[in-house]
Amino acid sequence: MKIYNTLTRKKEEFVPLNDNIVNMYVCGPTVYNFIHIGNARAFIVFDTVRRYFEYKGYKVNYVQNFTDIDDKLIKRSHEENTTVKELADRYIEEYFKDADSLGIKRATVHPRATENIDDIINFVKKLIDKGFAYVLNGDVYYDTTKFKEYGKLSHKNIDELKAGARIEVNEDKKNPTDFVLWKAAKEGEPSWDSPWGKGRPGWHIECSTMSTKYLGKTLDIHAGGPDLIFPHHENEIAQSEAANDAEFARFWMHIGYLNINNEKMSKSKNNFFTVRDITSQYDPEVLRFFMLTSHYRNPINFSHDLLEQSKSGFLRLSNTVDNLRHLLDDALDRELSDEEKAYKEKYDEYKRRFEEAMDDDFNTADAISVLFEMVRDINTNIDGNSPKELIEYILDIFLKLSSVLGISYKKRELLDDEIKKLIEKREEARKAKNWAEADKIRDELKKQGIALEDTPSGVRWKRI
Ligand SMILES: [Zn+2]
Repeated sequence: MKIYNTLTRKKEEFVPLNDNIVNMYVCGPTVYNFIHIGNARAFIVFDTVRRYFEYKGYKVNYVQNFTDIDDKLIKRSHEENTTVKELADRYIEEYFKDADSLGIKRATVHPRATENIDDIINFVKKLIDKGFAYVLNGDVYYDTTKFKEYGKLSHKNIDELKAGARIEVNEDKKNPTDFVLWKAAKEGEPSWDSPWGKGRPGWHIECSTMSTKYLGKTLDIHAGGPDLIFPHHENEIAQSEAANDAEFARFWMHIGYLNINNEKMSKSKNNFFTVRDITSQYDPEVLRFFMLTSHYRNPINFSHDLLEQSKSGFLRLSNTVDNLRHLLDDALDRELSDEEKAYKEKYDEYKRRFEEAMDDDFNTADAISVLFEMVRDINTNIDGNSPKELIEYILDIFLKLSSVLGISYKKRELLDDEIKKLIEKREEARKAKNWAEADKIRDELKKQGIALEDTPSGVRWKRI
């Protein structure tokens, strides 16, 4: 199995450090808002990586953090006149709703920064004791000139990085690339006691601390979005390798950028989409499928047309599953002919090719092409005369391979547009005084978890 390693810029053979256990850390969301589709791409891709390891028989310890204290959370909590804790709790819940809908499995542990403050403080202390960090007016900074390999992940030397560094508020720090490990508290900010006074952790230190705590000093894989390579992951390496005297991550995986209609996604360009924006219009499995139709390291372009293409592609897969299930209902329970026995083996070959694509740095695009080849073969060669044993065999392989991609063809819940259509139908029935029909639609919606409320200004609905 080969994985492209950002650190060496090469595809390398992957063998875990311990037997069949894969220790994997993925940088999680900062929980001050709904996740956007760029975040979703990373979480879907690395969930697929995890699923493939599990399919191959590895045990995956998967840790994904929640950044639940930082400037953005503090600012937003002030704007909304609430606490940082309440805001974080709310958006962690929303994260899980989105992740569940996209088939992203729960991590083995989802540590929160604010629940690991003691460990973070100890980690910072260690860096000071070892001479890698210094205290400055209640802040603690990492001295990037002390770590000789600083820049090894982003493949830049420290002078280039220093020249490009943004001049920040604290001009007193020793080098422009030095970064904050611990921030002194300002008035009105949440804070914790520390040897350097009241304050809160910087962002980079939480990942070093929590990955060491839950997975040990050396990770098999550390993964995240492309914008994290520098400075976040570079800084994580500097912290962890200085504190632990051990290699931090053996493999670094980063996804490519996601663009919208060939432009960078940004709120100011009005082309910013949350997962919720898309899944209210499309089956979440279609969004997941879309994200996996490109190789994870390539940039992916997101547009309405491309999503529509994915929707029809996904439907071809799910119709095949429906057809096979339907055929099974009446399939003949008879022995396979010699010809059928030979034909059955063709599906082992499809499976082998799917695995070959995934073994080559998780090439989901090629793996999906194999599924479509299977669809064409099934549609041509499987029908009402096919024996039960053959249909079961093919369906089993098809579902197993799909589940590696996190696709289960589950009964889809109603999307916003479908709900609106049903509400309109109910309104028409009511106008025609067809109460039985109106009640039937209401009950149908209720069964699907949608509650209606008749108000003077019209019908309102919500998910219950
Ligand atoms: Zn991180």
